[in-house]
Amino acid sequence: MPPSHDASRCLDALRRILPAIAARAPALDVDGAFPAEDVAALGEAGLLAAPLPPEHGGAGLGTDPAALAEALRLVGRASLPLGRLYEGHVNALRLVLRHGDAAQAAAAAADARDGAFFGVWNTDVPGEILGLEPRAGGIRLQGRKILCSGAGRVDRALVTARARPGDLPQMVLVPLPPGERADLARWTAQGMRASATGAVDFTGLDLPATALIGPAGAYEAQPDFSAGAWRFAAVQAGGIEALAEALRDHLRRTERGGDPYQAARLGEVATAAAGARLWVEAAAVRAEAGAEDSVAFVNLARLAVERAALEALTLVQRSIGLTAFLRPHPAERLSRDLATYLRQPGPDRALASAAAHVLAAPGAFGDLWAATGAGR
Ligand SMILES: Cc1cc2nc3c(=O)[nH]c(=O)nc-3n(C[C@H](O)[C@H](O)[C@H](O)COP(=O)(O)OP(=O)(O)OC[C@H]3O[C@@H](n4cnc5c(N)ncnc54)[C@H](O)[C@@H]3O)c2cc1C
Repeated sequence: MPPSHDASRCLDALRRILPAIAARAPALDVDGAFPAEDVAALGEAGLLAAPLPPEHGGAGLGTDPAALAEALRLVGRASLPLGRLYEGHVNALRLVLRHGDAAQAAAAAADARDGAFFGVWNTDVPGEILGLEPRAGGIRLQGRKILCSGAGRVDRALVTARARPGDLPQMVLVPLPPGERADLARWTAQGMRASATGAVDFTGLDLPATALIGPAGAYEAQPDFSAGAWRFAAVQAGGIEALAEALRDHLRRTERGGDPYQAARLGEVATAAAGARLWVEAAAVRAEAGAEDSVAFVNLARLAVERAALEALTLVQRSIGLTAFLRPHPAERLSRDLATYLRQPGPDRALASAAAHVLAAPGAFGDLWAATGAGR
């Protein structure tokens, strides 16, 4: 299904601001950076409210597979850190709209329309939880989250907390004043420096009961939880396209593109980029249709995109040579960002679980993914 009229308008607006976002990305490649100007530009272009359904003043982008796949890929192509951050914003709004009550949905929608930027922070310190203690009229949070993109920068964080270790995670929507409680000191990653990914300490934070979104366990409700992985794959697919562009530009400038070895590698990179995009588009359709086998399909898709990216990285570095490792060649930064952002939770588990689905599925192998027509 093509994007709706409203979603198409948002994509047009997005395309207009992408050149400036891409132009700002090199300067943001420093520790502790955050693309505040880019987030503001997304807001001005209507992209912060766009994920909301029309009844909340959005364009329905958050659940429109074709439009969202394109938006995430385009943002990722211009800037992988911004793509990561925007994916979190979209995910947070989807979760609040799906699991929050009417008042919570309306409040979050109003905030997004006013330019508030959201994130989803689920990762715990190994062996610890973000604790949730009941208190009169609400809750108190105790503990930290780690690997929080936009730490100290997002206005609303949807975090997962638990009363006791082993409990199902409870979503809590936390309003955060800028700069508070965040610690970026350990974000020493080689890439994705502009994502402001850090630890956030919520200890002693009191919130009203209205901050609780949905019942415990809603965050991990399937197939949405696992099938949602198609969205980070969409951002990664954009990163592959940016790297492919850097290679093509390099071969044109150096007039090396006619060499048969270089041409072969460029062709293979083009295949990897197009393959990643096709996987993402098919996975988006299947996931948003809520297909029963969407988790298995998305697991394959995310790994196919990861493999395409790893292949592209190898080919680009071989084609460009040492220059691909020297600043300020764009391939240098793009490679670091992509290699870092490829690290996503549980890749072995994703492959094993997809393989188990394939093993157990009835019918002919060739009809495995036929039911909802994904990929047609
Ligand atoms: C730029 C960036 C921004 C991020 N932002 C956020 C954010 O905003 N919010 C958030 O919640 N998270 C965020 N994350 C964290 C992200 O969601 C993942 O949790 C993280 O990237 C996992 O990476 P990992 O390679 O350590 O994964 P792991 O799952 O630890 O995988 C590492 C390896 O160990 C294997 N493995 C996994 N589990 C086991 C096991 N039990 N036994 C044996 N082997 C195992 C895997 O298959 C893989 O080979 C971010 C990550 C990045 C890179």
